[in-house]
Amino acid sequence: MPQRTATVVGGGIGGLAAAIALHRTGWDVRVLERAPEFTEIGAGISLWPNALRALDELGLGDAVRARSAEEAGGGARDRRGRWLSRTDNAELTRRFGHPLVVLHRAELLRVLTEALPADCLRPDSEVSAVHDDGHGPVVIHPGGASRPDLVIGADGLRSAVRRALWPDAAGPRYAGYTAWRMVTEPLAQPPAEGAATWGRGERFGYTALPGGRMYCFATASLPEGTPSGSTEHAELLRRFGSWPDPVPALLAAVPADAVLRHDLYRLPPLDTFVRGRVALLGDAAHAMTPDLGQGACQALEDAVTLAHCLDRTDDTAAALGSYDRLRRPRTRAVARRAARLGRVGQLAWPPAVLLRDTAARLTPVRATLRSMTPVLGWTPPGAPRTAPRTETESESL
Ligand code: FAD
Repeated sequence: MPQRTATVVGGGIGGLAAAIALHRTGWDVRVLERAPEFTEIGAGISLWPNALRALDELGLGDAVRARSAEEAGGGARDRRGRWLSRTDNAELTRRFGHPLVVLHRAELLRVLTEALPADCLRPDSEVSAVHDDGHGPVVIHPGGASRPDLVIGADGLRSAVRRALWPDAAGPRYAGYTAWRMVTEPLAQPPAEGAATWGRGERFGYTALPGGRMYCFATASLPEGTPSGSTEHAELLRRFGSWPDPVPALLAAVPADAVLRHDLYRLPPLDTFVRGRVALLGDAAHAMTPDLGQGACQALEDAVTLAHCLDRTDDTAAALGSYDRLRRPRTRAVARRAARLGRVGQLAWPPAVLLRDTAARLTPVRATLRSMTPVLGWTPPGAPRTAPRTETESESL
């Protein structure tokens, strides 16, 4: 049988992981990325046990672990800095076989791009249209038109592939809050463990990166598109400069021009991730709020699952049907759970905040980790189960 060809639209975490997974199973793959180079914005990313299992399946788990920091623990604190709940990475590892790790996004992208032959990667290649002419998918890009056997739309929240082939699907919805992300300069004495401090309609979190740097993130409930004051850094100082230690010291260690800000969106559920021989993956299929730190983890799961389904049969349509059946319910449930957590995290009405904080304080760590089993216990299809069985991989998450 001739080698099957795939065009991946979008070279983010999801697109690159899908390209690696297909390349490993014998596909001829091209990744078309509109940016001039394959890299990611200057922030950190947390990868949970389910993502590390997916990366192990791609043969990249150890390379990612080598570039990651692994904290002993962390948790949530109230606005006065008192612990509400603690997490314990040793317990997470005992339960799920892997810890939570955090690394710089650029490092993750480097590991992914280095796993592909250079001629698979096509930067400066914005896809302007995708259609099906009755004989299969056609991809229009600066190099001309391609007719691969398979197209993967991994082009993110505002996916051009989705817009072209799912013209009636609802667009992204604003979640009601905005997020800042930043990385500090190396600190002589970084905090011993990470934490997220919950305020009223505002949160500030931090976690260690390798080399003494800290990845920090913050949120605030605001109308969509609200401009910050003079600069994003000044806005963060105004909002969080008097929060409990170590927040002020962390803000002081962030270069003033290195603060990223994005309004947060979720994608209303699609009724299918597949149209003909085109499949959506990652944020293009199921963008979710970052409250569970699962968006990229789910994209990695998508990639491994898609390649597995395609590797089991020469019938691409049947394989894509299996991919859709495996991934849509699961990602929908994870996205819902993230949205729920986001709503709770952004509570601003004082009695509701008191109730939230009290409930968090009274919930044992083990109960919190147990409740994460449906999300973190995922194992790649076909792989032996190493994590506790999930009661389901669908709606009851
Ligand atoms: P993207 O990263 O959006 O990549 C899409 C790529 O497609 C881009 O490179 C883009 O340039 C390219 N592209 C777009 N249009 C075209 C076109 N027409 N032609 C060619 N190329 C195109 N997830 C986690 O797992 N852990 C976390 O800790 C975490 N933290 C987060 C914090 C914040 C504040 C936010 C906003 C998100 C966070 N996420 C996290 C989610 C995670 O960032 C995303 O889910 C993930 O990056 C999605 O990857 P993707 O490859 O699907 O899409």
